[in-house]
Amino acid sequence: MTSVVYYVKGCSTTSFEKLLEKLDLSFISPNEFVAIKTHFGEENNITFISPEVYLPLVKILKQKNCLAYFTDTNTIYRGKRANAVEHLILASKHKFDINFLGIPVIIADGLKGNDYVEVEISLNYFEKAKIASSIYYSDILICLSHFKGHILFGFAGTIKNLGMGCAARPAKYLLHNVLKPKVDTTKCTACGICVKVCPAEALKIENKKVVMIVEKCVGCGECIHVCEKRVFSIPWDLSYKEVQERTVEYAYAAIKNKKKCLFINFLDNITKDCDCINKKQEVLAKDIGIVAGFDPVSVDFCSLKIVNDYFKKDIFKELWKEIDYNPQIEYAVKIGLGKKEYSIVEV
Ligand code: SF4
Ligand code: SF4
Repeated sequence: MTSVVYYVKGCSTTSFEKLLEKLDLSFISPNEFVAIKTHFGEENNITFISPEVYLPLVKILKQKNCLAYFTDTNTIYRGKRANAVEHLILASKHKFDINFLGIPVIIADGLKGNDYVEVEISLNYFEKAKIASSIYYSDILICLSHFKGHILFGFAGTIKNLGMGCAARPAKYLLHNVLKPKVDTTKCTACGICVKVCPAEALKIENKKVVMIVEKCVGCGECIHVCEKRVFSIPWDLSYKEVQERTVEYAYAAIKNKKKCLFINFLDNITKDCDCINKKQEVLAKDIGIVAGFDPVSVDFCSLKIVNDYFKKDIFKELWKEIDYNPQIEYAVKIGLGKKEYSIVEV
């Protein structure tokens, strides 16, 4: 049997309202905890999905008298989302707060990201996964994802948002740690920016060049993002494949104990990089549409096809030539997270 995926053209509030009308949300009951997992956007990022678009969903959830809240987890890099205090301040700056949304915002893995529950999964990479506790203890998970490019995943949608996004901060180190950047110091100007952002104190300046202490590196990739001289690069072997597969195992863990989950991808503000990037990014396409369903794999796979059809080419392959995005899909199918086969209902 194939999974059913719902699609509406355009990403406005009106489009989202139309899509929500088609979805059977009768599984949500009064007094149930409903975690709405999304991304509040890093500082200076302006291409995350605006909270305004999400208001029709909030309206429905309030009518159902459930205990709904927006949530995300802390990051391992030193941006403005590495602890709950700064994370909530930034979220509020981006209008993710109770005043604007009408429901609370909770950082799922707590003040410093150490608040998690170990979920038994017994898969290839992990016996147990450290899932952010608020998400773990919620009855229902609604995952709202911005569909766009990503340095390690090629594209990032529901699977990435579930796996990396529901992992508590310590688990994010485990997900990334196969990735140690290659270093070519020829062009290093010793500006020190990478040293400041490295969360593991794995970088220092010596003799006017950067030096990496490899044993300390946790593979977060921040130095690759911030160094404009391209001193750091991803080791283009199979490490990205393993990061993708590890993340898929976490996606599996995030939804394992849920009564039911709903997955929604917003195909809007398509950018090369993700919303964790602390700068304005070029928007390659806007307002394509919204894809929803109850199978995270088919929602991502369908979104990929719609975006590629829009560009009339494999856009994420073109943006990230060295990255194969398929492992996240293939491994998700292999461990039973969902199916690639889907039938589409156009709203
Ligand atoms: S950011 Fe780049 S140029 Fe600056 S110190 Fe680090 S490696 Fe060198
Ligand atoms: S060296 Fe780079 S990849 Fe390693 S922990 Fe520091 S910032 Fe992250």
